[in-house]
Amino acid sequence: MNNFQYFNPVRIVFGDGQIKELSNLVPNHARVLITYGGGSAQRTGTLDEVKDALNTADSTREVFEFGGIEPNPEFTTLMKAADMVNEHHIDFILAVGGGSVIDGSKFVALVSHLTQDDGTVSRDQAWEALTSYTRNIDSAVDLGAVLTIPATGSEMNSGGVINYSERKAKLPFGNPLAYPKFSILDPTKTLTLPERQVMNGVADAFVHVMEQYLTYPVNAKVQDAFAESLLKILISEGQAVKANPEDLEVRKNIMWTATMALNGLIGTGVPQDWTTHMIGHELTSLHSIDHARTLTIVLPSVMRELKDSKKDKLLQYARNVWHISSDTTKDDDAIIEEAIVHTERFFKDLGLPVNLADANLDESAIEPIVQQLQAHGMTKLGEHKTNDLEVSRRILQRAAQA
Ligand code: NAP
Ligand code: FE
Repeated sequence: MNNFQYFNPVRIVFGDGQIKELSNLVPNHARVLITYGGGSAQRTGTLDEVKDALNTADSTREVFEFGGIEPNPEFTTLMKAADMVNEHHIDFILAVGGGSVIDGSKFVALVSHLTQDDGTVSRDQAWEALTSYTRNIDSAVDLGAVLTIPATGSEMNSGGVINYSERKAKLPFGNPLAYPKFSILDPTKTLTLPERQVMNGVADAFVHVMEQYLTYPVNAKVQDAFAESLLKILISEGQAVKANPEDLEVRKNIMWTATMALNGLIGTGVPQDWTTHMIGHELTSLHSIDHARTLTIVLPSVMRELKDSKKDKLLQYARNVWHISSDTTKDDDAIIEEAIVHTERFFKDLGLPVNLADANLDESAIEPIVQQLQAHGMTKLGEHKTNDLEVSRRILQRAAQA
């Protein structure tokens, strides 16, 4: 196992009815900006529940609202929220939604102090902060979250991904100041999700685990065993939620699994390979494909293309996650291919695409994606930093042929 430091300051408040805890979690005298997405928080009553919990008799909180944060949160929209933070002297941002709202709110929290003479946030400085991964940002507004879709893990990590359509860029950032102070995970809130979003969430979490697991062995027994458990739970609960969408116990397990998939724990002390996510971001920014669906398109081809360098972990994955026996009739390649086919079947059963054709794309999509990877500096991906543009091209060619 490699050396590591592990730090995660996020208080998780889990369970049915826990939104009422906001009255204890958000400072009593705060000027709060509630941020939310395109309308689901209003439609489902969650927004009202949040406001009721904040407006307690003994508090002097002032509550403001900013709605309309898109899936794949848009830089230009977030700049308007950042201006609002300054205009109303906001000192607490409460994100109500999924990864897009939480990521977007983290970015707002990090850049809203980058003001210019007229008091608005400098778009240039905010863009510069994003393109440098927000590394140089050293202050942020406090933030909390009410999660309404289990998927990204954003509720318990310090990263995010911001989309800037006009620049055709979807870029990640990370900064310890972006950890939420708390996140409320009420699994009953997930019951209103359309099936497509439920399955997207299961797939995103699955790929998060894979990208921290499918590298090369470093004898990290705890991380490997946790990762394999999370994968197995996502496989069983993904199938269970499809068959029984009303089963709250299934929803609870999916919600906590998705959080555990990307709160840093399974990624400590192990190599990581985020190639699938980085190629996936370009597919979203060029073709507006849902985040998770880009991942299920790319991952099988990553596994096939990199099967030699990932051989030991792929065999471990086949054995421990899919229980594929290694009898004498099968060579390693056959075992690995069987595990990849199982993975594809799992995605397909959840209604997810597994190649470019499933997303109505063909070979002509490949070069623009490769160019975007180059433009965004994604030229040394993978656990060995050896996945250059040629490797990414080959991965995409596999995804086109599949
Ligand atoms: P999302 O984009 O936040 O939400 C997807 C859709 O679900 C939206 O249309 C939203 O509608 C709807 N929705 C949310 N909660 C709902 C509910 N309870 N009932 C009905 N509809 C609901 O989805 P996400 O998958 O959580 O986030 C994806 C984003 O996170 C991508 O940009 C991705 O790149 C990023 N990401 C971040 C991390 C990280 O570590 N921070 C990791 C992976 C991915 P409304 O807009 O109307 O609310
Ligand atoms: Fe993701």
